[in-house]
Amino acid sequence: MERLGEFLSKNEDTLWSKFLNVLKKRLPETSFETWFSGSKEIALTGDNRLIVQVQGPSFYVEYIEKQFRPLIEEIKTELGFSEYSIIFSPIDEENDREEIKSSVLQKPKKVRRKRLANLKSDYTFSTFVVGKSNQLAYFAAKRVVESPGREYNPLFIYGGVGLGKTHLLQAIGNEVFAKGKNLNVVYTTCEQIMNHLVNYLQKKRGDGFKDTLRNADILLIDDIHFLQGKDMLQEEIFHTFNYLFDREKQIVMTSDRHPGDMHSLQERLVSRFRWGLVVRIDPPDFETRVAILKKKAEQFGLVLSEDTYMFLARVYKKSVRELEGIITKIKMLSSIVEHTLTLDEIKEVVFEEENKGRKIDIDRLAEVVAEEFGISKKLMKSRSRKKEILIPRQLVMYLAKEYLGLTLTKIGDYFGGKDHTTVINAVNKIQKRLSTDINLQKHLNSIKDRLERE
Ligand code: ADP
Ligand code: MG
Repeated sequence: MERLGEFLSKNEDTLWSKFLNVLKKRLPETSFETWFSGSKEIALTGDNRLIVQVQGPSFYVEYIEKQFRPLIEEIKTELGFSEYSIIFSPIDEENDREEIKSSVLQKPKKVRRKRLANLKSDYTFSTFVVGKSNQLAYFAAKRVVESPGREYNPLFIYGGVGLGKTHLLQAIGNEVFAKGKNLNVVYTTCEQIMNHLVNYLQKKRGDGFKDTLRNADILLIDDIHFLQGKDMLQEEIFHTFNYLFDREKQIVMTSDRHPGDMHSLQERLVSRFRWGLVVRIDPPDFETRVAILKKKAEQFGLVLSEDTYMFLARVYKKSVRELEGIITKIKMLSSIVEHTLTLDEIKEVVFEEENKGRKIDIDRLAEVVAEEFGISKKLMKSRSRKKEILIPRQLVMYLAKEYLGLTLTKIGDYFGGKDHTTVINAVNKIQKRLSTDINLQKHLNSIKDRLERE
């Protein structure tokens, strides 16, 4: 509270400080602290606009608008400042992301004793959601724990960023410990090996790292693609590989690409990497994405509606990290606003991200719908009122709203500047029609299927 007092007195002379004084009395302390502490008047323009910067990214502004605008207006009248308009502005976007990141990172973690210093304790097989896209890698990793050094040696797991390679790799280590197996598991990254090597070459003094690697019963090397073009490192890994392989010790590696697609990699290493089993992890399919979202939400103690999971799974398709990211964000926002975000609120959060180009856009949607009905996109975007054209057009509007979560204005714009009442009418008409028109339902399902496969 002292901090607060100090802060208020610093703001004393500004118009905004008068608001703060009243807000402080009207709002619960935590609410005030969360939303308004640190907010400051940054400009009072000639046309009576009072610009207030809040201490948070743009979604803060949205929530302030939503939750506190009526109160702010009320206070404005009470204070006799009706002629002013109050405009909230976020702190700048670049800093935003850092803020979000650090506040998420700072969340207190459950304290659990780690069995091995460099393994994340929640990267286990049980927290890993298995689907078509990753099941081969998953089962191979499990087999490695059952019979290390025998069946798949080396095991080489490759795939894009954020698809669970590190998770699986560390799950092997965690599982060995959980089962109390008397095996020496070493997890490291290729980069770490490089650093030790450089250190060794500079100081001409070993730090025992080489021995650490060679003493492993199971050696887990993450991001092996890092060795592309690094001859000395390749040499070192080649010898370590041979040493362990000869002794039937298990080696598991991850990479962002297939051994055959690595550039500047010695041929003898390429062939060794392919001796055992090479498995790929693909981006998760729709059902797996839903399952992952549910699992992540559950881990956060969040319960979201079925529609929400489906909506998010349609939007975020590229990596598991994205799915995790949006759930983390929802969790954080929910705790700030002290209720679980509704689907509509979540859609708003997602729109913000839309600009980052993650979504199927309306144009693609229009294309798919046009194809489904066997008409051209151009015709669909025309002014024709023919039923064969009108219904697909209205269906695009409906899907753009319900499926992509676009605003009515944006949808209207796409169709050459139709106003939002036209759009909402179209949406309502389709909604009504869908309850009785089986044919339209079939079309809708087939369109959704197509979009989900993209
Ligand atoms: P990669 O190493 O392939 O870039 P990570 O293993 O770091 O990806 O995964 C990114 C995030 O997604 C991690 O937090 C991980 O726990 C999570 N994750 C990835 N795949 C799954 C999955 N199938 N089930 C649950 N969580 C997953
Ligand atoms: Mg990784």
